[in-house]
Amino acid sequence: MPEIRSYRSIPLWRDVTEEQWNDWRWQIAHRITTVEQLDQVIHLSDEEKEVVDRSLSLLRMAITPYYASLMDPDDRACPIRMRAVPTVYETDIRPEDEADPLAEDVDSPVPGLTHRYPDRVLFLVTDQCSMYCRHCTRRRMAGETDRALPQSRVDDMIDYIRETRGVRDVLLSGGDPLTLSTDRLEYIVARLHEIPHVEIVRYGSAVPVVMPQRITDELVSMMKKYQPAWLNTHFNHPKEITPASRRALAKLADNGIVLGNQSVLLRGLNDCPIIMKELVQRLVHNRVRPYYIYQCDLSQGIGHFRTSIGKGIEIIEHLWGHTTGFAVPRFVNDVPGGVGKTPIGPNYVVSRNDRMVILRNYEGTIGRYIEPEGLEPSECPEECKLCDERRERGLDEPQIGLSQIFSGAVGALEPADLDRHSRNEAARRRRKHA
Ligand SMILES: *Cc1c(COP(=O)(O)O)cnc(C)c1O
Repeated sequence: MPEIRSYRSIPLWRDVTEEQWNDWRWQIAHRITTVEQLDQVIHLSDEEKEVVDRSLSLLRMAITPYYASLMDPDDRACPIRMRAVPTVYETDIRPEDEADPLAEDVDSPVPGLTHRYPDRVLFLVTDQCSMYCRHCTRRRMAGETDRALPQSRVDDMIDYIRETRGVRDVLLSGGDPLTLSTDRLEYIVARLHEIPHVEIVRYGSAVPVVMPQRITDELVSMMKKYQPAWLNTHFNHPKEITPASRRALAKLADNGIVLGNQSVLLRGLNDCPIIMKELVQRLVHNRVRPYYIYQCDLSQGIGHFRTSIGKGIEIIEHLWGHTTGFAVPRFVNDVPGGVGKTPIGPNYVVSRNDRMVILRNYEGTIGRYIEPEGLEPSECPEECKLCDERRERGLDEPQIGLSQIFSGAVGALEPADLDRHSRNEAARRRRKHA
């Protein structure tokens, strides 16, 4: 990996003290937001300078000095630079692009809160990020105000969670929740912690990547008070794992915060099995469990970052079996239109008959598993009360998806609005009136 430049070698920050540099408030206040500042950190062509200006109307540019100092000044394909610096491609809106491809605003009972899956909600606490990633999926709102939400909106979302007993997992995101002051964050987390049915709070934050200075003793001792706490961060490339980010991760892990990582598969940045293997192995070495690799969404102006879905399958093919099982993330596509996250991966089942499943491993070796003979369908033991107990806790098991077919509740599933339904309905009416 290339050497990291000392920030003092960059004229813009020549006189910055160590104390300032390590202060996250200084980092936020001194983010790079103009071409003139950026030009003092990396070499930009005239064309690039013009483009940066033009893209700023689409998604704000703000780059922490820390993250900017990691950029290769001469290489446009530097992964740090690709994540942070606008390019002309962002102005290319493709026919398949959408403002809100995941329909997050549609599944929102309260503005800013998406309740799509049965037992967990996505809680957008701010539209501010310490740095705006050029591949942002929430470009429709990220950086709109570059500040925290008004308290009343946060309170409305907390009220919804309090009134909805089935919610046991709250995912704080945004924007980046760790851009809030520790006091404001604690206000939210403490209120969630008081709600008996909320079992876990998750932070979704890129701060360990783009502004590790934010992981202060003060923040971590607050987070530690409200266990269990999980944090999913957002490393995309091994170059982002620096001494400073490793210290931040260690501080979180030492204090019992469970760490995961979500990457986005990005063309020309990390769409390579070797880069991904290097990344996941370094993450595990730093006590971070690789959780997801996302297929790049259909948000507007990020088409140039997208890869085929096949690329993600190829990456998983290169990881599973080749390295530590828990270093292998799930590859998921958040299917547009609110369909939601769907895991995708290589096929390991080669064939089957009524007794045998033929499987292959990562080497291509093929074997078989013989299934038990003459099995009766399993039945619930009479003394088991788990379903009743869960129902009493508000976690009733709604019959959703294929589980309805497995349980025998229905024999088939079909879309609600098939043409033949309306034809059949019309025929029924005609017969009735005949
Ligand atoms: C991703 C997401 C979640 C969390 O999903 P997990 O698969 O449990 O990590 C929750 N709500 C929404 C709307 C999401 O997009």
